[in-house]
Amino acid sequence: MSPAERADVVIVGARCAGSAAAIGFARAGRRVVALDRVSFPADTISTHLLWPGGVAELQALGALERVRALGAPPLPIGFAGAGELAVSGSYTPVDGIDYALCVRRPGLDAALVASARDAGAEVREGARVTEVVREGRRVAGVRWTDADGAEQEIRAPLVVGADGRRSTVARAVGAADARRSRPSGRACFYAYWEDARPEWRATAAQWREGAELGTAFPCDDGLTLVLLQPPASRADEFRSDLQSTYESTVAAIPGLAERLRGARQATKVRAATGIESYFRRSSGRGWALAGDAGHFKDPVTAQGIRDALRYGRLLAEAAAPVLEDPRRLDSVLARWERTRDRDCLEVYRWTNVLAKGKAMSALEMELYREAENDPDLARQMLDVFSRVARPSSVFSARRTLRLAARALARKLPARARPSIRRAGDVHSRPW
Ligand SMILES: Cc1cc2nc3c(=O)[nH]c(=O)nc-3n(C[C@H](O)[C@H](O)[C@H](O)COP(=O)(O)OP(=O)(O)OC[C@H]3O[C@@H](n4cnc5c(N)ncnc54)[C@H](O)[C@@H]3O)c2cc1C
Repeated sequence: MSPAERADVVIVGARCAGSAAAIGFARAGRRVVALDRVSFPADTISTHLLWPGGVAELQALGALERVRALGAPPLPIGFAGAGELAVSGSYTPVDGIDYALCVRRPGLDAALVASARDAGAEVREGARVTEVVREGRRVAGVRWTDADGAEQEIRAPLVVGADGRRSTVARAVGAADARRSRPSGRACFYAYWEDARPEWRATAAQWREGAELGTAFPCDDGLTLVLLQPPASRADEFRSDLQSTYESTVAAIPGLAERLRGARQATKVRAATGIESYFRRSSGRGWALAGDAGHFKDPVTAQGIRDALRYGRLLAEAAAPVLEDPRRLDSVLARWERTRDRDCLEVYRWTNVLAKGKAMSALEMELYREAENDPDLARQMLDVFSRVARPSSVFSARRTLRLAARALARKLPARARPSIRRAGDVHSRPW
């Protein structure tokens, strides 16, 4: 093994969280080395819708122009269908961005890596990290294997694990067991389609039909990403005949089937099952876990890339000035972790409700009904996905009460309908 090399920061993983952190450290003038076991461009099991709040993160990293050059159409319209109900609206701009974007991961991640290099970070590909190195009680670097199989070591005052859900760094520092977790009630099956409906290419759309959920997001190369998220209990049925179950489930969601009229499925179906959402302990002496390595939310609300970019960047901005002072560094890392948890907890809970794999509640149906004719409410609902509004602002106590009363009234015969005030006892938030 060659003698240990030194850097200011070592980052394990160079996709969303890793590149974002690398950009932040490099901008602060730090010598940052990011190691990733793959060579970019490389695909990964992930769909890739970014709401305006996520697109704004690309902008903050200086990566937006490069990502836009990949040709994915801007998606300024959000659409949600449920049975006969159809809500559509626009977004409140985030840093001037009022559109969502759906860019396939090989191009998106390669653009992030190129932006990290532009900012001055060194990104090494084909570099697999095998363990962390310790000095006393602190993490002080990593051992890794290069593309030729040679073992190397690199030391730094901070090791950032941005190495995804099966994080090697989380395991090595004893943080792999989640502090809080929730298995998903849904599974994911997706494929790309050659689109035949130009009139839908500015719209990110979702349909719910009973417990089924399907989305169509126009992306780069004239394709549309079609993701199904059936209840997890159907995963075996899908596994036994992936293609035909995918097709029959598309057909069972009439709005999605109509959206895909004339379109041709261009790729095979990819699957993600057994999904679990979690928060892990994400900081300690000389280490931090960014992106999915530290926190994961079910894909049903499409938040992961945005959060990996945002908290990767914020980690770097907070830690870069204090790398030489271990005590200050540890306290800055702990504060960064608390901020991430505080910002993400409510969205995590709301995501877990949508990930239950159940049909829409009567309350949600009433919300859609109200939003059909109320553009402000439709926008507010979309803004929750974009992280401009909190879920609790849509389901405020007053609105929940009103919607619950309407839901109750709809269920009862006319004579037995309660007044709105008497319906107060059915008030409850849906998460
Ligand atoms: C089915 C599915 C659909 C999703 N859909 C969406 C969506 O529509 N929108 C959205 O915002 N989010 C979505 N997500 C979430 C999103 O994929 C993640 O939140 C995001 O990829 C997190 O980025 P990351 O950089 O933390 O981790 P990753 O993207 O997982 O990157 C980790 C990197 O670490 C590298 N690595 C791992 N171990 C090592 C090692 N030992 N040594 C060196 N390198 C290593 C890997 O090669 C990889 O490149 C989805 C997730 C899933 C599973």
